[in-house]
Amino acid sequence: MKAHDRHAIVIAPIGDFAPELMDAVDRGIQRAFGLATAVRPILPSLDFAFDSTRAQYHSTPILEKLSAAASAGAIKVLALADVDLFIPILTHVFGEAQLGGKACIVSTYRLNAPAGGCHHPEQAVGRVVKEAIHELGHTFSLRHCRDPACIMHYCRSEADVDRKSTELCRYCRVMLNDELKRITEW
Ligand SMILES: [Zn+2]
Ligand SMILES: [Zn+2]
Repeated sequence: MKAHDRHAIVIAPIGDFAPELMDAVDRGIQRAFGLATAVRPILPSLDFAFDSTRAQYHSTPILEKLSAAASAGAIKVLALADVDLFIPILTHVFGEAQLGGKACIVSTYRLNAPAGGCHHPEQAVGRVVKEAIHELGHTFSLRHCRDPACIMHYCRSEADVDRKSTELCRYCRVMLNDELKRITEW
């Protein structure tokens, strides 16, 4: 355990990501949650979560492992992956989170699709930032929001992700601030 992880959100990349992506995710998280971040690889491989029938990775056991492996002082842990994630009831997911728990994951895999037939790397980065904040929002007990512009809105497609803003709606912001206050007042 590292003492300086206390009150920090740990970003745990699994594999290599462009520095621009890492920076954007890092900045987005700091802006949304107002907490310090620390980048620290935690899981070296996701082989244990590979489902050979589906040729995809089951995100739920990844969250369990991540939560167990994270330092005790870290408030939350976000894993960043580049593989195709699923949960059994869905064909794929952009990410998954433990509601009110410690761990969440987001993958770049499905968020890289070009919009309008042409590929904009900045757009893919923006989507990953939004979904990273969305999944972390769940770990702070936020549920899905009906407001299509709210970052906690559930998105089925990349187009849905592009449509929503990078902000929480007023309602979700109040809920998050209450939760942040509760957590950081140890
Ligand atoms: Zn969600
Ligand atoms: Zn909302």
